Amino acid sequence: MKSPQFDYVRPNSLAQALAILAERGDEAKVIAGGQSLIPTMNMRLAAPSILVDLNHVPELTGIELRGKWLRIGALTRHAEMARSPLIARHAPLLASAAPHIAHAAIRNRGTFGGSLATADPASEWPACCLTLGARIHLASCSGSRVVPAEEFFKGVYQTALEPHELITYVEVPAAAQDMRYGFDELVRRRGDYAIVGLAAQARVGARGALKLFRPNDQRLHEVRLGFFGVAETPVLARRAAAALEGRPLTSEAIQDAQAALAEDFQPLGDLYTSAEAKAHMARVLLGRVLTAMSGGHSA
Ligand SMILES: Cc1cc2nc3c(=O)[nH]c(=O)nc-3n(C[C@H](O)[C@H](O)[C@H](O)COP(=O)(O)OP(=O)(O)OC[C@H]3O[C@@H](n4cnc5c(N)ncnc54)[C@H](O)[C@@H]3O)c2cc1C
Repeated sequence: MKSPQFDYVRPNSLAQALAILAERGDEAKVIAGGQSLIPTMNMRLAAPSILVDLNHVPELTGIELRGKWLRIGALTRHAEMARSPLIARHAPLLASAAPHIAHAAIRNRGTFGGSLATADPASEWPACCLTLGARIHLASCSGSRVVPAEEFFKGVYQTALEPHELITYVEVPAAAQDMRYGFDELVRRRGDYAIVGLAAQARVGARGALKLFRPNDQRLHEVRLGFFGVAETPVLARRAAAALEGRPLTSEAIQDAQAALAEDFQPLGDLYTSAEAKAHMARVLLGRVLTAMSGGHSA
């Protein structure tokens, strides 16, 4: 099946793109990598009468370190994220997640902003943004605003984006030296959407001047565990994180976190995987990711 007919415009600036969106209203849709939108149009699940191509809008591109934040343009391709030295150095969680997204051909076209706007519950980037405490910058003809990742994802394919609004860029906190990250997912075949996935971060050891007195302190602080594929949006497992707070990553601490996970969420089952199986997989994945973060071998 092919999509219904549509008009096509290719603005050369953000102002032009926003003006077209304001003028054409609900009949317009922006296209970035086209890797989610075009299949949806071909299946006739979406039928915009005009596509606004973002690929020539320079304001949406680039990866830049600005103070303590790494700024990532919405149009940054998944493949660019995977090979960027800035991402590798300042956002290692994103670097770990990138190769898990789909296949090379899709990673070459699909974009960071497109993935966040799509808000598939099994997508990698939304969960990473939630774990990292990212700030999502939006713009429309009436101005711009910033939405924390925790408030951006509203439901399956639903976000805080208002009609005529664009994601322009995303800021993630640049990784500090004492931060540790972990990422993994369970999939049927490499490149598939995750059945269950986890993006994790924690600060290790004493803070500031206390480091001098406790150089070997391996206790975790500020633990954040962002699961995906288990609910309508990515979710932070707060109870499991609390079970790890202030403790080193011993096998006992990991088991306590796995036990606490049952209180964080009851996963939603889907066509292929029951809720019970997903709960079991989430527990196993948590054990693997934490074991890897502790420097041990995964179970
Ligand atoms: C076979 C296959 C497997 C895939 N596997 C995975 C996977 O494992 N993990 C994963 O995360 N993704 C996967 N994807 C999806 C892929 O990552 C898409 O690239 C991504 O979800 C959408 O990005 P895009 O740039 O292609 O967006 P598009 O398809 O161009 O647009 C998607 C939606 O986002 C909107 N949009 C795009 N950019 C913006 C913006 N800047 N501001 C506001 N709205 C915007 C569009 O209007 C549209 O509604 C897969 C896709 C395919 C076809």
